[in-house]
Amino acid sequence: LVVLKDVDKHFGDLHVLQDINLSVAKGEVVVVLGPSGSGKSTLCRVINRLETIGSGSITIDGERLPEEGSALAHLRADVGMVFQSFNLFAHKTVLENVTLGPIKVRKVPAAQARERGRELLTRVGVESQADKYPAQLSGGQQQRVAIARALAMDPKVILFDEPTSALDPEMVNEVLDVMVGLAGGGMTMIVVTHEMGFARKAADRVVFMADGRIVEEGVPESFFTAPQSTRAQDFLSKIL
Ligand code: ATP
Ligand code: MG
Repeated sequence: LVVLKDVDKHFGDLHVLQDINLSVAKGEVVVVLGPSGSGKSTLCRVINRLETIGSGSITIDGERLPEEGSALAHLRADVGMVFQSFNLFAHKTVLENVTLGPIKVRKVPAAQARERGRELLTRVGVESQADKYPAQLSGGQQQRVAIARALAMDPKVILFDEPTSALDPEMVNEVLDVMVGLAGGGMTMIVVTHEMGFARKAADRVVFMADGRIVEEGVPESFFTAPQSTRAQDFLSKIL
C-alpha cells in the first residue's frame, strides 16, 4: 500500500534519509525505532509530503506522490498523521476538529460529518468532550481527538510520530489502547514510538533506523530477542 523506493534526502550537508526501501502492506502495522536524529520523523514527513525527497519514489496505493497541486491535497488526505504535539485547531471545538477535514476536503455534508464525528469520538472514548475546546482537555484526551480527526478522513494509512511521548505517564495507555484497537481492526499504520509494549503487542514488523538508513527489520519477537546489528543491540540495551 505504501512503497518507498530508493528514497534519498539531504538537509544541506546532512544525508537525513539514505537509500530507504520500505513496503507497507494493507493492514500492516510497522513500528519504526531508532536513536534521536536517525530520521524517523523525516521519514513520516516525506511519506505525506510535508517534506520533499531528493530522489527515489513514494507511492500510496499505487499512485506516485505528486510534488504539488490538487492531486497532492487529494493523496495527502489518504495519509493520516498524528503528531507528538496533537496539533489540534485551538479555536475549534473537539467536534469541529473532527468534522472540518471531511467537510472541506472530502465534501461530506455537515450533518453527516457531525454524525460520523460523534461516532469516532465515541470510539476513542471522548464523546462527552465534543463541545469543548482542545485546551480544556487532558493531553491524552487531546491525542485521542487527534486520532479521531485522522480517522474521519478515512485514510488509507495513518502515520504516528511519537504519539505518546508528550503525555504524562498515566495517559499513555489510554492512547496506546486506542492504537492497539485500530491495529486489531485492520488499519494500516506506521508508528514511530519508544513504547516497546506497543511494538510487541501490535506491530507486525519493526524497522530500525540509524543515521538515515534502515539498518534492520524483522518481526518484533526476533528483533527484540535477537537483534542482528550492533547498532540495534546498542539501542535496545539502552532502552529495555
Ligand atoms: P527524534 O527521535 O529526536 O525525534 P528523529 O529520528 O525523528 O529524531 P529527525 O527529526 O527525522 O530525527 O531528524 C533527522 C536529522 O535531520 C536530525 O539530525 C535533525 O537535526 C535533522 N533535521 C530535521 N529536520 C530538519 C530541517 N528542517 N532542516 C535541517 N535539518 C533537519
Ligand atoms: Mg522525531
